[in-house]
Amino acid sequence: MISAEQARALILERVPVLGQVTVSARRAAGRRLAADVVSGSDVPPFDNAAMDGYAVHSSDTASAPVTLTVAGVTAAGDPPAAQLPGGTAREIMTGAPVPFDADAVVQLEWTERAPGTEVRVMRPVSPGANIRRAGSDIAKGSAPLLKGRLVRAFEQGVLASVGAGFVAVHRRPAAYFIPTGNELTEPAGTPGPGKIRDSNSAVVTGLLEREGCDVRRAPITADDPGRLMEAVGSARGFDVLVTTGGVSAGRYDAVPGVLAAAGFEIVFHRVNIKPGMPLLFAVRGATPAFSLPGNPVSAAVTFLEFVRPALRKMSGDPDPGRREVVKARLAAPFRKTDGKRHFVRGRIENVDGEPVVRPARSQDSHAGSALAAADCLIILPEDRSEFGEWEFVDTELL
Ligand code: AMP
Ligand code: MG
Repeated sequence: MISAEQARALILERVPVLGQVTVSARRAAGRRLAADVVSGSDVPPFDNAAMDGYAVHSSDTASAPVTLTVAGVTAAGDPPAAQLPGGTAREIMTGAPVPFDADAVVQLEWTERAPGTEVRVMRPVSPGANIRRAGSDIAKGSAPLLKGRLVRAFEQGVLASVGAGFVAVHRRPAAYFIPTGNELTEPAGTPGPGKIRDSNSAVVTGLLEREGCDVRRAPITADDPGRLMEAVGSARGFDVLVTTGGVSAGRYDAVPGVLAAAGFEIVFHRVNIKPGMPLLFAVRGATPAFSLPGNPVSAAVTFLEFVRPALRKMSGDPDPGRREVVKARLAAPFRKTDGKRHFVRGRIENVDGEPVVRPARSQDSHAGSALAAADCLIILPEDRSEFGEWEFVDTELL
């Protein structure tokens, strides 16, 4: 059986990076840039005051306290004053353009306004003080955002600053999800004898959407090769197929056979992990398929550990395999003897300023409520069995 690392490597090797589309900066949120954004202008566009105060020649303040004559005022939004005669100061507001030959701004707090047109500067200022230079945030011709960058609100601010109304981003993956299992019913209503409500659809579609996918969900599909084949047929044209259930070793676990019959190459089936061991990964052309085990916790964990990196690569993430690990001390000892990598549901608390993680009471793979109550997965490596209380372990935040 392959390891979690081997499985991730195979997935990242086989899934494609999706092509690009041009969208408005507003609609780029949550997507990855497909090209560098180069600024056509300086930001800020002109030298301006970083403080309310007085624009001066710094040399005039060398022997401060000194009295200077006030020569007008520049507010934010005004055009720059052409010139500042020697021995004068110009009242200036934050963000207002600095007169062309002034070389410093004295902050208001260092001045005393005398009656009439005089101001007393109490302290000397050095050249350049309190002036934000044109291009000091983003220089014209430079690239403040590189290809692969996730567009968040902050990046949208940069796009606005450089006047980029449209940007090239990677396509959002179009995902098709098939919940499988004879026992499943829609959540509304009361399940009949032997039936249970389908909770995976809620979890998997929610996680797909969180990763930026456009999601279509198939109707609940029975453990029947014909029905499954029909559902898999409906996935044509989508960028990624995800299924849950029917991928273990039971008599009615029809998913692997149906995927193979539909022309998918099974890249791997089963990974040395707990929960989620039956995970299957297949590809047909450029389309990956992930068959997740049906148990709700197994489905969620395998999604996060294996489907998520694939979606990140497809969406243009330059480092899709990265793990965002938070170290925490184990609140209670943990023992495992199966040589698998475990993903243990836990909660992180702050104990005397240190992050301490407590494994959830129920580690059963059907216990969706224990997963919902957790805030992290504790990653326990394959090659160890005893984990001591207060030992540092890796966690991944949910
Ligand atoms: P399977 O992977 O088909 O062997 O299913 C394993 C367990 O997960 C069984 O107890 C199923 O009833 C349960 N299960 C499968 N699919 C779902 C689902 N969509 N929602 C809730 N439980 C499910
Ligand atoms: Mg089943």
